Amino acid sequence: MHVKILGSAAGGGFPQWNCACPNCRSLRAGTFHGKARTQAQVAISSDAERWFLLGTSPDLRAQIESTPELHPRATDESTRHSPICGAVLLNADIDHVLGLLLLRELQPLSAYATLSVRRILAEDNSMFVMLQRVDDQLKWTEIAIGETFSLLTPLGEDSGLRCRALSLGRHYPAYVSRRRQTELIRQEASLGLIVESPSGKWLAYMPAVPQIDDVLLKEASSADVLLFDGTFWSDDELIRIQGSGQTAEEMGHVPVSSPTGSLAQLAHLKCPRKIYMHINNTNPMLDESSAEYHEIRDAGWEIAEDGWQFEL
Ligand SMILES: [Zn+2]
Repeated sequence: MHVKILGSAAGGGFPQWNCACPNCRSLRAGTFHGKARTQAQVAISSDAERWFLLGTSPDLRAQIESTPELHPRATDESTRHSPICGAVLLNADIDHVLGLLLLRELQPLSAYATLSVRRILAEDNSMFVMLQRVDDQLKWTEIAIGETFSLLTPLGEDSGLRCRALSLGRHYPAYVSRRRQTELIRQEASLGLIVESPSGKWLAYMPAVPQIDDVLLKEASSADVLLFDGTFWSDDELIRIQGSGQTAEEMGHVPVSSPTGSLAQLAHLKCPRKIYMHINNTNPMLDESSAEYHEIRDAGWEIAEDGWQFEL
């Protein structure tokens, strides 16, 4: 399996359009010891020909253009084509699903989501009708938590990639009406994804983790590569830097640091590669000259950058 990290930042990206935090200011001034990042986006493929997206970020158009494998190829019959066969949507957050709207233009696609997330997008948000203007445009497949499913192309061809979802979060985005929220299944709000490669190796993708429990630890320890929630360094990061806001915990993210943070809780994980991604622009570990960056690297973790790729 080929895995490409097209975007490694949390919602808003780095720098964020309305943010003048020390990190964003320094990056814009050209004095930052670290890299800009687009919003979290992963693409996977078993053959480097047919690709599936994990989430669809608001930065998807630029991410596709900077990734030659995802460029369309003209055929004798048509100039319209895409190597992108579909997307797995793990939650209904705007920074995780907005890119789906960018994939309209009558292109056939497979979309995998829980019934709850599909109802939010396809039934409550009329813009998504643009993805279903003709037959054979967007084909929805329901994800049942804990059950293995295969990623299929819009024509029904098996990609060879097997997935299984675990429930991570129980909170729906604030734009989902209270009434609709009462009709949805809490466990379907936010998922982690385990992807099995044809080689038998496992990728675990967990970009939004509210708490670390035994189920998560078991899944993460079986993975060959773990892509894990690195949104915030500390629980009160936004409040300290912005002067107001929510804690990491209130926003559904276990922070990296502190005795109950992910770095401590996952310290004994037997996983060959542990990579933080979905990193907020305020996070001090983005600065490669910082003590926080070196603490992460010394602990054996990596910090994802846009454009990384690896084979599993
Ligand atoms: Zn910032």
